[in-house]
Amino acid sequence: MKRHISVLMLLAAVFIISVTSFGCRREEIPDPPEVSPSVSQMSSEVPDVPEVSDIRQKAVALALEHGLKEEDLKGEYELFLAFSDILEDNELLGKWKEFVYRIFPVVAENAELLDEGYFFSGLADLSIEEAEMVEGHGGEYYDDSKSILINDTLRETEPDDYLITLFHELMHFVDYNLSGPEQMCYGLDGRIITEKEAEGLSEEENDRTWYIPDPAFITEGGAELYTGKYYSKTVASYFPIVEFLSGLDHIYGGKRTERMFFSSDSSYLFCSMLQKAGYSIEEIREAVASLSRYTNSYYEFPDADMPIEDILIDLYISEKGEDWEHDAVFCYILKCIVEMPYEGNSGSKYEKELRKIGFTSFEDYYRFEDEITKQTGKDLYFRVIPPNLIYIGGRPYLSARGTWKTDDMEEIHGVIALEIDLKDNVLKSFELIEPELLEDIAG
Ligand SMILES: [Zn+2]
Repeated sequence: MKRHISVLMLLAAVFIISVTSFGCRREEIPDPPEVSPSVSQMSSEVPDVPEVSDIRQKAVALALEHGLKEEDLKGEYELFLAFSDILEDNELLGKWKEFVYRIFPVVAENAELLDEGYFFSGLADLSIEEAEMVEGHGGEYYDDSKSILINDTLRETEPDDYLITLFHELMHFVDYNLSGPEQMCYGLDGRIITEKEAEGLSEEENDRTWYIPDPAFITEGGAELYTGKYYSKTVASYFPIVEFLSGLDHIYGGKRTERMFFSSDSSYLFCSMLQKAGYSIEEIREAVASLSRYTNSYYEFPDADMPIEDILIDLYISEKGEDWEHDAVFCYILKCIVEMPYEGNSGSKYEKELRKIGFTSFEDYYRFEDEITKQTGKDLYFRVIPPNLIYIGGRPYLSARGTWKTDDMEEIHGVIALEIDLKDNVLKSFELIEPELLEDIAG
């Protein structure tokens, strides 16, 4: 199965300006922290079991060797040592092995979902290769063989996009392998059921069971969203679908959206949200099909034409109440989903309200952009407008690839991430980030 189309145009860049408190990837690596000796009373009785402090110290030292900080381990010291053992034994990863360490924070953050045996067996077989690919495809992930292919022209044509594409493909690997194989979801007698429940049905019940389409939008949008959250701090493809998932972050909280993506019952968890919002099985099928068709135009689904902004607004109303029009963050998310300028061509049942909040002309948008960018004191240019809103560390950022100038008027290409209070359009912090190159990591 093909899994990725990388559309952009990244760039070549040289430095980072960071005025925020969230860490840059290229921070100087500090010395390993002093770890206080264990006071475990068990240690004298069970001499063969390493003390907790030893495990922690070893894991932290190893993490630092591989470009991670202690906080990236999220307390999962033992898991990190096991992860590193498997990774070091993998001979299929070649010069990309060092970069694969970057996925550990994602694994640690979702450790409660982890099926260790399944995941580590996948990690042992994971391979990365460059391959010939049609133009426009950045990379592909094949779960059957646990193999990632990267377009062999990418390093030359879009060098700054290379690692971001690789991270996106690695998110597919984590998604498919963290908690076991993906489970489908079905509809029966007006309610949704899991694949496990469906397996126990009688033949007669089977006849009444509806298949819910593959939630490709979660697979692709999620891989891109978590690339942004854990690595690039921006979105490089599948823009409206990623924004739909940011909308779920906003409505349900980041933890729940993240769990939905990385668990093996993503489809069931998403359909549960729709069911709670009052959608019938037929509407659930149509919503999932519409979202997935929007993700990959080669998907063919019958009668699937539900505006995705409507699905998100329905979910908002069911969870947070009717007053979505006065929620500034939610309104900005909608602006990233609907077309710009907004002309109301999608057939949305909320068209009248969306007209009031959307960017109805480019002048309208650029007025907003000028207002927020001038607060940085920099001459910024976004390559994608409007910049996507993504939550990073629980805070909403407007983020896109773009360019800016140094004091010497040198043009820099990279990622622009602005933390904005959208109620008053006040800048709270911003970050200009240069992309990493494989050479920076692999040596
Ligand atoms: Zn993908």
